[in-house]
Amino acid sequence: MAAVSGRRAIRSRRSDLAALATRARRDGDDYVVTGHKTWTSLGFWADWIFCLVRTGEAARGGAGISFLCIDIASPGVTVRPITAIDGRHHLAEVIFDNVRVPAANLIGEEGQGWTYSKQLLSNERIWYAHVEEKRAALRRVRALAMPAATHDFRRRLAATEIAVDCLDGFVERALLDDGGDVASLIKILATETAQAITELELELAGGLAAPLLPERGAGWSAAVPDLPPFIVPAVEDYLMTRAQTIYGGTTEIQKTIIYRAAMQTG
Ligand SMILES: Cc1cc2nc3c(=O)[nH]c(=O)nc-3n(C[C@H](O)[C@H](O)[C@H](O)COP(=O)(O)OP(=O)(O)OC[C@H]3O[C@@H](n4cnc5c(N)ncnc54)[C@H](O)[C@@H]3O)c2cc1C
Repeated sequence: MAAVSGRRAIRSRRSDLAALATRARRDGDDYVVTGHKTWTSLGFWADWIFCLVRTGEAARGGAGISFLCIDIASPGVTVRPITAIDGRHHLAEVIFDNVRVPAANLIGEEGQGWTYSKQLLSNERIWYAHVEEKRAALRRVRALAMPAATHDFRRRLAATEIAVDCLDGFVERALLDDGGDVASLIKILATETAQAITELELELAGGLAAPLLPERGAGWSAAVPDLPPFIVPAVEDYLMTRAQTIYGGTTEIQKTIIYRAAMQTG
């Protein structure tokens, strides 16, 4: 009985699309957009931004949301820096104040934005795998750690290497199929392995990582001279990969997607 009510509870929880408040009002050949996009990775380097905007009333399944491409140079767009935990300015918030956007910039049909976004999100979650980057990082960790590494460190290093091999396998499967059914699994495994690698790196840095200081907007720097070169990026990467549990859709949401897929096929 408890399991049944648990399933009902999970099924009833959905992404909070109803909370989307950035609105696009049709005015002649334009939409007029007003609202706020808080988390915009690499927002400063962007010439264009794609946005989900509310063009209709909130409804089940994301209806009433449209997908609009907006020129960042348009009057009324403001891009503000957000300093991330790694001390850098790769994040931005973007504010839209009565921004006129040609209706021709609408992707697909009005009101179908969430449907298109789900495919994009699926691709994004596969992209997080970064398998070769992880293999290179693991080679660096292995070279730095050996031959002095403890048995426990070797065990965790080997487990992470095997997990990255599994990740590679899932990516291959995603590329052969359309990716949808394994994208959430890849997102979780990519997050867990990225975090595990940076934990190993931080452990190698040990006490040398302690005196690092954040410099607003410019990353972290060593308060002491002549640190081994891997220490500063190890600290930055350790801190920043914590956020991977959140961006691209949180781990909890990915687990719910996997659960739903399993319930459909099981
Ligand atoms: C570093 C960083 C970069 C980002 N870059 C971008 C970007 O470039 N573009 C962009 O569009 N967005 C970006 N984001 C936003 C990111 O995608 C969202 O923060 C993320 O999807 C979580 O949504 P939320 O913040 O609304 O959290 P909420 O949905 O409010 O979730 C809060 C907590 O509740 C949990 N929760 C919510 N719903 C459920 C549920 N149904 N079941 C179980 N638990 C639930 C979540 O897991 C989480 O722990 C970025 C975020 C970060 C931190």
